[in-house]
Amino acid sequence: MNYDQLLDRAFELLPGLSEEKVDFKIPEVDSLLQGNKTIIKNISQIANVARRDRGDIAKYLTKELAAPVTLDEQKLSIMTKVSANTLNEKIKRYFEMYIVCKECHKPDTHVAGVDRGYTTIVCEACGARYTVKNS
Ligand SMILES: [Zn+2]
Repeated sequence: MNYDQLLDRAFELLPGLSEEKVDFKIPEVDSLLQGNKTIIKNISQIANVARRDRGDIAKYLTKELAAPVTLDEQKLSIMTKVSANTLNEKIKRYFEMYIVCKECHKPDTHVAGVDRGYTTIVCEACGARYTVKNS
């Protein structure tokens, strides 16, 4: 056990002390309007922070915005006009639903499975396992 693990363990044994500040920030969407399309320029950065496939985020936005979404190497394009505010709200919601652990509020989660409209999320930080209803 290294020092950090010892510290983690000490915190585990002392409920109440484990409420550490989360230094994680949901990324801001860097978007621009191009004719009738909306481009998200930093989709790779958002996906990296989320540790999810860009395709997962594209799928989520397709549903949320009820508009076709395409991905290329650099960017994500939405086939309608969407304000930066709306995009930031959607991405925030995505993180709150699928990325940030409901128990410890850390973003160290992964998807363990998707079944009948529910996504099972597992947290690598605290071991929590729960399901989220897909939107
Ligand atoms: Zn957790």
